Amino acid sequence: MMDFKALPKIELHAHLSGSISRECLHDVWVEKKKRGETDLRDPLEEMPVGKFDYNLETFFPLFSKYIYALCNDLSSLIYTTNAVLKDFEADGVVYLELRTTPRAIPSANISKDIYVHTILTCISAFNTTSHSMKANLILSIDRRNDADTAMQVVDLALAHSTVGVDLCGDPAVGDISIFAPAFARARESGLKITLHFAEAPQSSTPAELWTLLGFKPDRIGHVINVPGDVKAEIIKRGLGLELCLSCNVHAKMITGSYGDHHFGWWRGTGCPIILSTDDVGVFGSSLSNEYALIAEHFGLDREEICTLARGAIDTIFGSEEDKQRLREMIWK
Ligand SMILES: [Zn+2]
Repeated sequence: MMDFKALPKIELHAHLSGSISRECLHDVWVEKKKRGETDLRDPLEEMPVGKFDYNLETFFPLFSKYIYALCNDLSSLIYTTNAVLKDFEADGVVYLELRTTPRAIPSANISKDIYVHTILTCISAFNTTSHSMKANLILSIDRRNDADTAMQVVDLALAHSTVGVDLCGDPAVGDISIFAPAFARARESGLKITLHFAEAPQSSTPAELWTLLGFKPDRIGHVINVPGDVKAEIIKRGLGLELCLSCNVHAKMITGSYGDHHFGWWRGTGCPIILSTDDVGVFGSSLSNEYALIAEHFGLDREEICTLARGAIDTIFGSEEDKQRLREMIWK
């Protein structure tokens, strides 16, 4: 396989907690164990190296029952955020939009406001010292949220000047129509919008998909189980598509393997495609590996890979200055 670590890349669909490597979680666990602060199992036992076959039934509990329980104070939040930023930079990512659902941790006196502030402080410090990568933050509304909680996420995004908002979480739960006011306010206030879209059959009814398109997203993620008329509308709007190859294969969200991925369908439709990792800590495939998989299974040559990487530039939620920097940086 070709190696795309040196290719300057844009990552736009990465969840903070899902991007923490097992080794980094292990470091956090060792420190807590030393201080007698955790009864959790070693992350390397909980998520053995080489285990990537998390599906929609086992994936979400891994967070609610384990990763959130381990990363439950300021020091672990800061340590893991910094590690995630460094890992993406080391993989040749030159622009990153990291997303996270604001999480209050009452046991550590952390409010959602403090949570967001803490992560943004790590990102700002990183941006001032990194010579190669710039990062921005997106705040996620979780499908389990009620309408007020969703509105609170938008308020936090505005108060902290993050670049956008997202809709994520277990596709088997929630009535997404209740989030219309929150996304309307986000849009009117100038925030960009990305949505997890048609991720699983349960979250792909025509009613849900047309409601989501009514939120006027700038980008959509996964885009797996899409009926023809919805596909036509997506193409008409030229929406940016965040496609996550390994995640979809490992979690069996698609039928078949890499070569069967819907990247093959969407390429050539005119919609910009942004290859993304989703949860590199869980699925173990770096962004450079995702590019290598696409090159191998869809026969893209070097020039086509560079065109793919450059195509992501105009879909970022960052500034015109960010885009200009990327135009100069990403190979032609
Ligand atoms: Zn995702």
